[in-house]
Amino acid sequence: MAYGIKVKNVLRKTLQWGTFGLLAYMVVRWWVDPNYLPDFEAFCPFGGLQAFNSFLVNNSLACTMTEMQIFMGVVLFVGVLLFSKLFCSFICPIGTFTEWMAKLGAKFKVLITLKGLPDKLLRGLKYALLFVTVYFTTTSSELFCKEYDPFYAIFTGFGHDVYLWYALAAILLTVVGSIFIRQFWCKYLCPLGAISNIFSNGVMFAGVLALFFLLRWFGLEISWLWPAGVISVLGFVLESWRLEGWIFPVSKITRNESSCTNCAICDLACPMGLDIATVDTVKHIDCHLCGDCLEVCPVEDTLQINKKNIRWMPAAATVALIAIGLFLASTIELPTINMKWGNEQQLETASVFSQSGLKSVKCYGSSMSFASKMRRLKGVVGVETFVQSHTVKVFYDSSKLKPASIQKAIFTPSRTILRRPGKEMVSLSVLKMGIGNLFDSYYNFYFSRLLAQMKGVYGFSTTFGEPVPAKIYFDADKTNPAEIKAALEQRELTYSSRGKETTVEVDFEAHILSDSLAQISPQEFAVNMFAPFNQAFNGYKKYMPDEISVYELPMPQAANPKLRRSFSYLVSHISTDDNLLRFQTLYKDGPYARVFFVKGKISPDSIYATLQKPMLTVHYSNGKTGQVKNPFKFPRKGKIIQ
Ligand code: SF4
Ligand code: SF4
Repeated sequence: MAYGIKVKNVLRKTLQWGTFGLLAYMVVRWWVDPNYLPDFEAFCPFGGLQAFNSFLVNNSLACTMTEMQIFMGVVLFVGVLLFSKLFCSFICPIGTFTEWMAKLGAKFKVLITLKGLPDKLLRGLKYALLFVTVYFTTTSSELFCKEYDPFYAIFTGFGHDVYLWYALAAILLTVVGSIFIRQFWCKYLCPLGAISNIFSNGVMFAGVLALFFLLRWFGLEISWLWPAGVISVLGFVLESWRLEGWIFPVSKITRNESSCTNCAICDLACPMGLDIATVDTVKHIDCHLCGDCLEVCPVEDTLQINKKNIRWMPAAATVALIAIGLFLASTIELPTINMKWGNEQQLETASVFSQSGLKSVKCYGSSMSFASKMRRLKGVVGVETFVQSHTVKVFYDSSKLKPASIQKAIFTPSRTILRRPGKEMVSLSVLKMGIGNLFDSYYNFYFSRLLAQMKGVYGFSTTFGEPVPAKIYFDADKTNPAEIKAALEQRELTYSSRGKETTVEVDFEAHILSDSLAQISPQEFAVNMFAPFNQAFNGYKKYMPDEISVYELPMPQAANPKLRRSFSYLVSHISTDDNLLRFQTLYKDGPYARVFFVKGKISPDSIYATLQKPMLTVHYSNGKTGQVKNPFKFPRKGKIIQ
């Protein structure tokens, strides 16, 4: 029984339950399959529309964005224009759930349908939420809707993108609000509902966008915030004022007055609480063409869609649009970032270097760090990244740069210590190998896990080349080159991480490059494995050598690769003192740090105190300053060596 009337609507219920079935499958598989990571937002068109906007404004897509969401957003747009809000009606799990809540409210006779001024004013909330969501998504390239989306919060178990208090408030409003007020979330809060209704007022939407682009074409530097704000405000005004779309959607419920008995059963069945029995055509903006009214009308062909007996059409259109979205998503890939810094002429004549299979390029953040790496390469004028296929395109000036140099710059060499040689060890053997399918740094982890599982292997280093030249350091009493090669050519790797066992497929090709094995001492091994750090700042180069002193002190943590990223924090911290000019790490009889400073301007004790501060003052690229815990400890003071 729905609101006092039993509605069959088999097609609609099949699609709604099908959606819950798919979600249940994802949750159960997530529980039982440790290698499966579900993306509960993969089909959400709202995320796609936000990301598409972010792409138009910033030339970048949000991290977790997929073509699937984008094309779902595009088919949602087409669907709203032609048919109405089919996603809300047939797919959206929140819409289905809130209908159940409304039935509960109706059963206990507490459900009301808001009309008049309260109904009109409350509709503004979803436009405010839409603007805030689009604003934060576009400025951060992260999907802001994930922070509060009740569906996403529940299905991910309040995953790391979810802001607890926002999500709890949204869940509370959705559940409690929908028991007492008909479709509270859908009518008043859902930003996807707002954007769908904006599409229904497509003439206004197109007009504002056309004006925006026209003004930009005339050279006016108008921020994208203006059209976003104007469309949100006008969307609210038009919806509250008219409660109807403007021309769209094309498909509407029509009533044949001559055969209608005015029984008003259709009004009772409508989940949105619309008046059907008193109008010729249901033009209300809340109608999402669910067809429940068509199902319950006792007089044949009295209620129709555009005066035609095509009640199957909305469900069929939903399935067809989803199929089209899936097809487009599987055939077209949009760039995650598209950054060009060369001038017009450079870009017109640029050559393109393409590299696929780079799993380390997997989101907006890694795309940006890839772009900044390429930007340092003279001759590169732009990059595009495609995170779904892990492909990059580098636009470059072929008179200044060769493809091999770009490939070399993409490659990240590695030095990894797997275990430290004991004091009893006299020497380590060095095996030189060429490793196929290790070009991408993403696979370094698997490579190191395979070697770490071998007793007697102490570490490895890689340098640029194809196949990648690698040196494997091992104890010849415990293993040998044939065993190492066999271990690296396993096709499956099982490893534990944070108490969880994971199995992945691996496909390294290991070639032994030389049968003769070099021998090195543990001390040489430590030196070979040490990755020095060196950064100058505060105008280091403008000082003459005799104006600079060097303070050196032991720094055991300089050999810890996990702390390498924190060097930039330490450098940012010490650079706040204008007399400090450069920070360097090196290996002598152990890891050391050197701080270069203006001679006579600062005492060694002050430098030591600066390095030892429990909190580091960090200056971020956006101009903000923050405090981070200092992870570095310096066991003893150093001395001036120059
Ligand atoms: S008017 Fe009919 S099709 Fe529209 S929402 Fe109400 S029941 Fe569904
Ligand atoms: S259910 Fe059919 S017959 Fe009854 S009022 Fe509605 S349109 Fe008319």
